[in-house]
Amino acid sequence: MFQNLSPAAVDSILSVAEAFRADGRTHKLDLGVGVYRDAAGNTPVMAAVREAEQQLAAHQPSKSYVGLAGNLRFNRCVEQLVLGQEADASAWVTIQTPGASGALRLVADLIAASRRHAKVWISDPSYVNHAPIMQAAGLAVERYPYLDVATGTLRREAFLEAVAGLGQDDVLLLHGCCHNPSGLDLTLADWQAIATMAQAQGFLPFVDMAYQGFGDGLEQDAAGLRVLAAACPEMLLVYSCSKHFGLYRERTGAAMVKSAQPALVRGKLFELARRSYTMPPDHGAEIVAMIMASDDLRANWQAELEAMRLRMLASRDKLATALAQRGLAADYLRQHKGMFSMLPLSDAAIARLRDEFAIYLVAGGRINLAGLDESRIDELADAVAQVSQV
Ligand code: PMP
Repeated sequence: MFQNLSPAAVDSILSVAEAFRADGRTHKLDLGVGVYRDAAGNTPVMAAVREAEQQLAAHQPSKSYVGLAGNLRFNRCVEQLVLGQEADASAWVTIQTPGASGALRLVADLIAASRRHAKVWISDPSYVNHAPIMQAAGLAVERYPYLDVATGTLRREAFLEAVAGLGQDDVLLLHGCCHNPSGLDLTLADWQAIATMAQAQGFLPFVDMAYQGFGDGLEQDAAGLRVLAAACPEMLLVYSCSKHFGLYRERTGAAMVKSAQPALVRGKLFELARRSYTMPPDHGAEIVAMIMASDDLRANWQAELEAMRLRMLASRDKLATALAQRGLAADYLRQHKGMFSMLPLSDAAIARLRDEFAIYLVAGGRINLAGLDESRIDELADAVAQVSQV
């Protein structure tokens, strides 16, 4: 049966994690995998999550199936978090999914079901799984100019020119905040320009929101996508609770679609979900719903999230200073948002960091600043300065 299988494609992030695990050097440093770590190097269960889980274990009345839309209270919470507490979500269909990964695939299948020849435009560079998921649904993927690696800034003119060329068969996939892998976010003026072009040209905006609260704060991080949501009659959104609720392995996410045909869209999403995973796992979604329904748990969660955000900002600042002290301009680290930035390093320099210094980065130079212990910043800066010399 399986002798004709071609070997599996290598995932550039998971392969770094595997190589790191296999490395026996005790001083090894993992800046690869995209999880938040505290000062002790742990990815903690957030206190509000722990508390909600205990309440749930004590009082959950049943583990019977949920419906195809998953946890409805969770879906309302996601709408309020992403669109705003007061926003009118009546034009949106929201369904819970197994993580944002599940939402990406569901939405890709929806696009393919309604316009098979649609092209999905992703940023250069983008999240490693964007192109594979879109392509697995049969969609064509194109890349738009985004990051200028040398300066860590937006290639604004080229980016806006690419968007200006999009039409009715095009889907523009944007990162809601804390762009993965670059940390480079759009300004509010950029979001406004995209909204104006979407209205005039009829392309479909599609926002992936995986790091709300990791950039400038919960509300601020959603400001850009809310400009699109207010202006555009149709829009796609996928949402992850992996990072800001620390629910990674609980696979907690949502797919949202704004359209003039909500009943049609809802029915098709249900059909697509039914013949795939059928229903999403409930545990993480119920935890989120419980946290958002309780003033105490919500305040506790927000305070812990804010502390995580400030810790990442401090890491950014310290690494930028340490690199500057070694003659490497790195102010872009202070401008970027969230867990990731990209160091402008060649493939050979990244390999040297791994082989000579046991420092692991993702191909392309992405580092996870939340994986960086303060006590090791000077050591990292020294190593980067050494491999940067030509
Ligand atoms: N989108 C982006 C931009 C991501 O970085 C990730 C992974 N962190 C995902 C989607 C997938 O997230 P999830 O764990 O919810 O599947």
